[in-house]
Amino acid sequence: MLCPACGAAKPGSAAFCPSCGRVFTARACAPPAPPPLPSPLIVRSAVYGALALLVGGYGANLYSRYLDAERDRLDSSLLRQVVEHRQLVERTMAQIDAAQPGP
Ligand SMILES: [Zn+2]
Repeated sequence: MLCPACGAAKPGSAAFCPSCGRVFTARACAPPAPPPLPSPLIVRSAVYGALALLVGGYGANLYSRYLDAERDRLDSSLLRQVVEHRQLVERTMAQIDAAQPGP
């Protein structure tokens, strides 16, 4: 491999040119990449993106309502679990109190 700046031979794993000090990056020695062509996937994504923008207002509203409902469901489920856990702790504490010999 040759240094792209000064043309000096460089060790393959060198991080910089021993002759001119140019820092090598992986890209510095690689041939320039051809400009990317739009792949069918990208074109399709763009079409779906445009469609999503068209229906986005309606969809976002719907999705937001779905998320609200889901959050309410999770909140009540979480609250129930907390209450149940607290009852369990209180029962356990009462059992421990009952099991301990009095002073
Ligand atoms: Zn160099």
